[in-house]
Amino acid sequence: MLRKTLSAPGLLDVVKKSFHKISDLCQSRTNITLADCLMSGLAIFSLKIPSLLQFDHSKEEKRIKHNLEKLYQIKQAPSDTYLRERLDTVEPLMLRKSFKKVFAQLQRGNVLEQFSYIDGHYLLSLDGTGYFNSHKIHCASCCEKKYKDGTIAYYHNMLGAVLINPDYKEIIPLPPEPIHQQDGNNKNDCEQNAAKRLVTNIRREHPHLKLIIVEDALSATGPHVMLLKQYKMKFIIGCKSAYDYLFRHRKELVTEHEIIDGNGVQHCFRFANDIPLNGSHLNIKINVLDYYEISPSGKKKHFTWITDLPLTTSSVYKIMKGGRARWKIENETFNTLKNQGYHFEHNYGHGDKNLTTVFAYLMMLAFLIDQVQQLCCKLFKAALDFSKSKIRFWEKIRGYFTLYYLDSWEQLYDAITYQKGDAPPNTS
Ligand SMILES: [Zn+2]
Repeated sequence: MLRKTLSAPGLLDVVKKSFHKISDLCQSRTNITLADCLMSGLAIFSLKIPSLLQFDHSKEEKRIKHNLEKLYQIKQAPSDTYLRERLDTVEPLMLRKSFKKVFAQLQRGNVLEQFSYIDGHYLLSLDGTGYFNSHKIHCASCCEKKYKDGTIAYYHNMLGAVLINPDYKEIIPLPPEPIHQQDGNNKNDCEQNAAKRLVTNIRREHPHLKLIIVEDALSATGPHVMLLKQYKMKFIIGCKSAYDYLFRHRKELVTEHEIIDGNGVQHCFRFANDIPLNGSHLNIKINVLDYYEISPSGKKKHFTWITDLPLTTSSVYKIMKGGRARWKIENETFNTLKNQGYHFEHNYGHGDKNLTTVFAYLMMLAFLIDQVQQLCCKLFKAALDFSKSKIRFWEKIRGYFTLYYLDSWEQLYDAITYQKGDAPPNTS
């Protein structure tokens, strides 16, 4: 049996309700609601079907419409053209609520607290990535890069934010921050400005959530560290050995610590607390952790972080693991979205205003729902394990979705897990 909340029907139900609230604020000139359009957009990424609403024949259309209603609560599915037209008008920020509703389910189901890492704090990894680039297609929100020969490249980037834990394969995405043209601003938007908006939005939505921001060296700057302090967020930020002076000439401030783990890997730490961030920000005090990993074969890896977590011989190992888990935003998030069936860089249609950003939000929301199922839903996991890989799993879901009448998610996952003959059990 699927549990009521942390399963596909439960999660899609809270998302659909949040879409209805957006729908109520927007006029519709047809009887297709905006909520049905948003849900159809979400279904595209949930099913990983680039052209969900183009059918080969009317029998297929009937079946897919039935399945969209039963699985995604879509009363009336829009055409591809109408879907794009409507979604282009949606203010992307309005979609943040849907992420929060899913997040609240994780909090209520006591799943989130398993994810806390140090002293009730959660690791939140931030990183930017591009998802659209063209010399021809563009919209009002595109950033522009002008070349000397007069050509212009149009692009959209985003700053992703995902909760990570080194002991978990799954991650929990929060709403990303689009890096795009802001109203009334002629200059291109940038990652630093997006970070300000992202941190402000997250703090407004989660005023009490204890967070440790994990970032790469680009963020090891005075203004950024001040911003995090202002919003009461702790940090572990990578940096490029700017502290050589400290380790060479101020050894009285430095503690050294070494351990060899059960696999024979040597972990060498050097650290100092309460150090000025840099020459231009003597008033901002941070702690510096320098670390070498030496494998039994002699292979060396080196990292340096700045943090405001107190560094002691008993805390450095965990902080190092937290800092290194940052790669999960690249490997487990962006790479999954780009290479594991979500088609992150595929152009689903660009629109004139918001379409690209709305699609990016819906894709991240579908990814969140998949990750929550992977964490909490036994039927989903059994079907995924049976399929051996995500790509195969999505292929099977697509296959059943287009070829059979389905009445529930349970029926779909059971069909994949217990493939007896060709048809899923109890289908009409
Ligand atoms: Zn654009």
